[in-house]
Amino acid sequence: MNSFDFDVNSDKAHEECGVFGIYRVNDELDCVSIAQDALYGLQHRGQESAGIAVNKDGEFICVKDLGKVSAVFSDKNLSKLPNGKIVLGHVRYTPFANLDRASSQPLVIRYIKGSLAISHNGSITNYTQIRNELESGGAIFQSNSNAELIAYVIATQRINSSSIEEAVIKSAEKIEGAYSLILSSPNKLIALRDPHGFRPLCLGKLLDSYVVTSESCALDSIGAKFLRDIKPGEMLVIDDKGLHSQIIKTAEKTSFCMFEYVYIARPDSVINGVSVHLARKKAGEILYKEHPVEADIVCGVPDSGLDAAQGFSKASGIPYAIGFVKNKYIGRQISGRHQDKKERLLKTKLNALKANVEGKRVVIIDDSIIRGNTSKHIVKLLRDAGAVQVHMRISSPPFRHPCYFGTDIKSQDELIANRMTADEICRYIGADSLGYLSLDGLSKIADNAEIGFCDGCFSGNYCAPIPQEEFVDKYSQKLINIE
Ligand code: SF4
Repeated sequence: MNSFDFDVNSDKAHEECGVFGIYRVNDELDCVSIAQDALYGLQHRGQESAGIAVNKDGEFICVKDLGKVSAVFSDKNLSKLPNGKIVLGHVRYTPFANLDRASSQPLVIRYIKGSLAISHNGSITNYTQIRNELESGGAIFQSNSNAELIAYVIATQRINSSSIEEAVIKSAEKIEGAYSLILSSPNKLIALRDPHGFRPLCLGKLLDSYVVTSESCALDSIGAKFLRDIKPGEMLVIDDKGLHSQIIKTAEKTSFCMFEYVYIARPDSVINGVSVHLARKKAGEILYKEHPVEADIVCGVPDSGLDAAQGFSKASGIPYAIGFVKNKYIGRQISGRHQDKKERLLKTKLNALKANVEGKRVVIIDDSIIRGNTSKHIVKLLRDAGAVQVHMRISSPPFRHPCYFGTDIKSQDELIANRMTADEICRYIGADSLGYLSLDGLSKIADNAEIGFCDGCFSGNYCAPIPQEEFVDKYSQKLINIE
């Protein structure tokens, strides 16, 4: 009888991280409390650790730990944080069961020029090369986090730079891959988005104080006004003289992660000028045109299948209905003593709504299929609840390739679409039919966005250099230490 840890979302690509920063101009703002609320708004991007760092007169005081925002912060520990001029926040996802406390962020370092705090979202693709170089020169790392590497690079560059901005610009020449970054020097808040713009980063204003964060939904949650997205390759510097912007590096082609629209971002966010909800709805509409079917109801798999299901319903005229009830009180990781408990645990997490699906031909929309186990379970739940037909529609193309830019899609062997055709997957999951959104359809879901797109995990065409090393090598933990 073996005990096991089971990740109820293991058949999903995982989110990465959420970043937040505020430069306080208005004395009345309680920036610690604001950061906490913003991190609640970003919780969907990472649930394994959370942290807030306060810059008080150039020194940083930080509260961070493993766990969700509600578990990490208490009145007691937050009361230890002063109301500083600059406050950074971070929520983090890590793909490892063996959670790494040292990688929690914001990361605070002390070096010859003072202190530095950093919050990062993305994945540095030349991590191995840079780390090797630094370690060869005697560098010692406390963690495997990308943030520590970036901080090390900036600190090294700062020695021969006249300002922190110059050090950041020089560092951007060295690091490659995906980074939406917020950092605080003693006097400045700096935000930087990589030249491809893989991950979101936006600017807002709360009274007269500037706020930078991953998604606009976090601005909404603190009552801040959305000003604009930070451009790919743009560095924003906020200090006592105000806001300064500079494009410090450009790429041949911008490549925002399409999977942010499909699954990662919250539907109430607007990214690159496009509502995530409307992009998902459009995916559902196109999906119907590409894979029409006769049915009685359309349902979505909570949460990210719901918007696409509405689009499918609109395009097809098939009524939209709630097909599943999700138990919001179960965390990602749950433990049990029997292997056969897995199915019960999944059922506890997600249950079919018999009153709506019994005797019906059901179209069920999900955002993706990674290994196929969850889809198989979903089809079974619907059939057990009395659905007479189950037609699975997926609001993205088949996942066939790893992601190197900050999403936990790492091994081709794990991807069912890499081993099976759509017909074979359909038989494996037990559906009556299966249809994926095409690559062409995907390219249209946010066609008025002010940016180019990455669809590497679907097409195999990556818009930026990918790591030279084998993905799973002695540094694999570093490469996929998602932030
Ligand atoms: S490879 Fe896929 S998941 Fe990764 S950045 Fe590109 S679209 Fe997003």
